[in-house]
Amino acid sequence: MVVVVDTVSATPLRPRHPEKVNRPDAFSPPKPDWIRVRAPNSRGYADTRKIVRENGLVTVCEEAGCPNIGECWDKKHATFMIMGDTCTRACAFCNVKTGMPGALDALEPEHVAEATFKLGLAHIVITSVDRDDLADGGAAHFAQTIGAIRARCPATTIEILTPDFLRKEGALEVVVAAKPDVFNHNLETVPSHYLTVRPGARYFHSIRLLQRVKEIDPTIFTKSGIMVGLGEERHEVLQVMDDLRSADVDFLTIGQYLQPTRKHHAVMRYVPPDEFGGYEKVAYTKGFLMVSASPLTRSSHHAGDDFARLRAARAAKPG
Ligand code: SF4
Repeated sequence: MVVVVDTVSATPLRPRHPEKVNRPDAFSPPKPDWIRVRAPNSRGYADTRKIVRENGLVTVCEEAGCPNIGECWDKKHATFMIMGDTCTRACAFCNVKTGMPGALDALEPEHVAEATFKLGLAHIVITSVDRDDLADGGAAHFAQTIGAIRARCPATTIEILTPDFLRKEGALEVVVAAKPDVFNHNLETVPSHYLTVRPGARYFHSIRLLQRVKEIDPTIFTKSGIMVGLGEERHEVLQVMDDLRSADVDFLTIGQYLQPTRKHHAVMRYVPPDEFGGYEKVAYTKGFLMVSASPLTRSSHHAGDDFARLRAARAAKPG
């Protein structure tokens, strides 16, 4: 049995997932040929890393151990994770550190805006840890961060990837009022797997949250994603597509789940690229404006290019 310590950000070293330490190891099959990524060693990668460190920021790229970090950071695309590096939930798929987070950093919105400016980003993606400890789940901090980026980089379009604000009355409305260009909230998996994969969340609450965004402000693009390879059935993926379309969601992402450590949920299957292609085709027929489905698809991967295509798709839509 292995104990995974936090080598990303903890000093002194501590278990990154204390609640998982006593779990039996889970073994995944070896990675197939189609899961290949670029090593993070380019000049652009080093520049991005420097700006992130200088502004004292946390990125989901590092904390979640994203396989695309070499490619994205080379192009100066980083996804900032606000409200700290410690999450109050303990999902079975996620490598973000769990525990009780510290107080919010009131200067973080300005630091994120400054880093966005220095990286010269035309499109920025902001996500966060779950902050169930805060009365508003961090909604006001999200809104302040959007406001700070708008003030410092008025031409930059803003995409947010939020938690579910479960049991936080009025929180969603605060975030929507800040007018992000894209509101993303990931379903992560099919409903039958929520108890084992995403136990702190509720599937229909997440669907309803996405639907509410569109009801409050139909100009905001909505986006959601799932991972496959967690043991779900094809018909369950198709049902998720229908549920998201019922909530008028514009953009669907589907990517392969990769196991961060042996203490996390095992990969049940590596879904071959042609199956992703099949999902993409079906999703378009169900009415999504945009679909990205491939083994290495992640919510924020190519988000800037995808946003441009999303806007073009809406403009081309009849009616
Ligand atoms: S896909 Fe997203 S999380 Fe992964 S490295 Fe790229 S920007 Fe970061």
